[in-house]
Amino acid sequence: MSDLEVVEASVNDAAEVCAVIQAAMRVAVSAQERVGPPATAQQTVESVAEVIERDGGLLCRVDGVPAGALLFADEGNGALRLRGVATLPHLQSRGVATAVVGVAEEVAADRGYDDVVLRIRSDLPATVNFWQRRGYAELAPPAGTCLTLGKALPVEVVTRSPHDSWAVGGCIARLAKPGDVVILTGDLGAGKTTLTRGIAKGLRVRGEVTSPTFVIARVHPPMGHGPALVHVDAYRLGSTLELDDLDLDAALDESVTVVEWGQGIAEGLATNLLSVAIERTRGGDTVAARRWGQAAEEDAEDVRSITVTPTGARWVGAGVRSAVTASSTYVAP
Ligand code: ADP
Ligand code: MG
Repeated sequence: MSDLEVVEASVNDAAEVCAVIQAAMRVAVSAQERVGPPATAQQTVESVAEVIERDGGLLCRVDGVPAGALLFADEGNGALRLRGVATLPHLQSRGVATAVVGVAEEVAADRGYDDVVLRIRSDLPATVNFWQRRGYAELAPPAGTCLTLGKALPVEVVTRSPHDSWAVGGCIARLAKPGDVVILTGDLGAGKTTLTRGIAKGLRVRGEVTSPTFVIARVHPPMGHGPALVHVDAYRLGSTLELDDLDLDAALDESVTVVEWGQGIAEGLATNLLSVAIERTRGGDTVAARRWGQAAEEDAEDVRSITVTPTGARWVGAGVRSAVTASSTYVAP
């Protein structure tokens, strides 16, 4: 087993970072000679040190030897740009790139960014594939051989009351536009309907949101000019086919559709999804409470985690992380 570590690069690492980038670039240039015109600026140790000082970067070592690197750039608009991910060719199969990207996304989230963006070559299918598998979507049509990709970062909030779940719903309503699909996952009683009530309040739609026992889908028309809310309970739906059978398509692109129990069923409704997973992390269930080893009074506290995961280009630039993170101060319209 080799030992792989990813660290935030300091100015002292500039020479190593630069060496990795240059080695990777030599390979890229020889590939370019085969598939397209060469066009890449040279990096020097000084220019790399400057970038590290300003926006930072990452260095990955395998058994202590530099194996991968990237540089960060603040794009403004809540996006952190990755300036290429360089991995040494002979180590490319060792998970170096995956590890570096994983840490880059953690750094972006820690620094309060909503999105990670980057530009890659569109004529290298393996590279395009690598990023798409990690949830990076095309933000614009390719410009020449340059492709701009981006990913809206997932966000987790911890709740302690039904109001907190409701407020997360309110924040989602603020982000939502006609045609959006929100998929809610979580056990019975997790708070899916409570969160949907927050969305309904935020969208200012008519009718009470209930756990529909016999009704599979209910349309809540807007009181103002916004979209309607289509609230679907997919609990008794076995497959995607049956959801098609609901014959909701007519309203979907003019509505915000929220599907409880929608995982594995509703993904086909839109390419741009917000997936919301609610989990009890403590309390409510004594086994969980014991496992967490909490004091008796804390055992009674009902702590849940809500993770919002955006999928698709639609959410890049929408500010999902900041909006959901601010749910503790949410005030309904
Ligand atoms: P679901 O639709 O997932 O089955 P509900 O929204 O009907 O769940 O909520 C079930 C119960 O849990 C309700 O009594 C609700 O008030 C409560 N609840 C919802 N969210 C939370 C939360 N974050 N913390 C504590 N209780 C909650
Ligand atoms: Mg429900």
